[in-house]
Amino acid sequence: MRNKEIETIIFDVDGTLSDEISWLKLTDGLGASSETHAQIFAEFKSGMLSYPVAKHKLILLWQSTGNANKPYMEEMFRSWRLKDDAHETINYLKRSYRVCLMSGAVDLYVKVVAEKLGIVDWYANTELIWDEDENLIDFHYFADQSRKKLEHLNEYVAKYGLDISRCAVVGDGDSDIALFRELPYGIAVNKSPYPELEALATKTVSRLSQLKEIF
Ligand SMILES: [Mg+2]
Repeated sequence: MRNKEIETIIFDVDGTLSDEISWLKLTDGLGASSETHAQIFAEFKSGMLSYPVAKHKLILLWQSTGNANKPYMEEMFRSWRLKDDAHETINYLKRSYRVCLMSGAVDLYVKVVAEKLGIVDWYANTELIWDEDENLIDFHYFADQSRKKLEHLNEYVAKYGLDISRCAVVGDGDSDIALFRELPYGIAVNKSPYPELEALATKTVSRLSQLKEIF
């Protein structure tokens, strides 16, 4: 099916194209405790830890594994699988639409996912910073993930001169809310999308392959 009102489809990654939250999976994959990571994040969210302190603790947690370097992380990201219908769905959509990724995950992961799916345009809310030996030394994270995605949307629209009224978004979480408000067509995915997102959604699907009936 070809939806003539839509030209561009923007995808979230975590929970949308993959089943996991890549932040916690990354911590597990490096060999550190994702419970400790979740604890640091909860203390940051509640205001107990400032952003610089929380970030420093998380970087130390990652560095303590000895695996927080670019080659290790890139190989790990390549080994992660997307949802089993992600490739076929994206391949189908790419034939008729411009497809882009906008994710709250780290940039190296989003780049790997984009390469796997053959998607040229991708935006990540978190930038990893490496030293000259490709060891991870810092990252830039934005607490307001939803607003950051909106900034990326504006950048993307300007880059190609896109008509915003012909863009759709596919997502599952709170970081997608601003895009769902801004764009005329929002598809919520998953067994249990974020409630506010579902309320804003044009449609909700449980499997990615159902997108082939919409677009
Ligand atoms: Mg998500």
